[in-house]
Amino acid sequence: MYASDREVSIDPTGAGIPGCAVLEHLADGVMVTDADLETPGGPRIVYVNPSLCEMTGYAAEELLGQSPRILQGPETDPALAERLRAELLAGRSFHGQGINYRKDGSSFTMEWTIAEVPDEQGTPRWFVAVQRDATLPARRLLEARRQAHVDALTGLPNRRHVEDALRGGAWLSARARSAIVLDIDHFKQVNDRYGHLVGDAVLQEVGRRLQEAVREDDLIARWGGEEFCVLTLGARQTRVLAERLHAAVRAGPVATSAGPIDVSVSVGWAAASEDRTTAEELLQAADTAMYRAKRDGRDRVCGT
Ligand code: GH3
Ligand code: MG
Ligand code: MG
Repeated sequence: MYASDREVSIDPTGAGIPGCAVLEHLADGVMVTDADLETPGGPRIVYVNPSLCEMTGYAAEELLGQSPRILQGPETDPALAERLRAELLAGRSFHGQGINYRKDGSSFTMEWTIAEVPDEQGTPRWFVAVQRDATLPARRLLEARRQAHVDALTGLPNRRHVEDALRGGAWLSARARSAIVLDIDHFKQVNDRYGHLVGDAVLQEVGRRLQEAVREDDLIARWGGEEFCVLTLGARQTRVLAERLHAAVRAGPVATSAGPIDVSVSVGWAAASEDRTTAEELLQAADTAMYRAKRDGRDRVCGT
């Protein structure tokens, strides 16, 4: 027997279903406010469903009569609230995501959609907001973004991270004062002699030694297969840092499952000058210097 054989009472307006009963069981949070955008303090909450209370940690009676701003806090973007107000004033619905605060002061990412509800005369009377805790998806997104920027083997930022940082301006290219490029010498022999896994272990240890030798505000990355780079902000004696990085790798043989392995690097550095101002130009010059170090016999530091 098909479901359609069963008698179902259908009212296309949903009039037979008590609206509030539906809202009381909805997994999403629902908040209804009056439509007063003019009075200071803004609209007042006239209804909240149990999911909204659960999400925010407030009891319904603590929210009713309050402004939705009760959920805002120091990290809530004021521009978002402004945009929301402007959209509602213009009679449009609004979809957004922002930081909200629970009663216990903890914050979470709230995603919500707000629409106007007119009364029988068609006059805007309420706003209904459907709200969802988006913390988990937001966290997952951040984690995915983080992973795309981190080299899985060494845990260092990867080339993409450097390129995105420079392009995005977070790491203003023009602020870079110097670049250092390091390439492990005869690394192919390590792989050929001891196998790829041992090669990986060597890469990890070299990455660790380099990371320990830079300052927190330096940007160190795994630039390619067995290549690393460092960008520094602010005045810095580039040659001294380059020598320090070289010495850090040279500190002693790397302990591996195949026994201790002697590792050296060729290092090229470039400091900012009149005709070399951007991070890209610095990296290019440091790369050229690194190749000079290779040509001159490897296991050394060259710079310009
Ligand atoms: P050079 O002194 O001229 O730099 O010699 P090299 O052998 O280091 O240079 P080459 O570019 O010929 O070889 C680099 C090697 O690095 C080849 C590649 O297999 C290895 N490599 C790149 N990425 C990885 C990695 O993630 N793990 C391992 N084990 N090896 C890698
Ligand atoms: Mg190389
Ligand atoms: Mg190499």
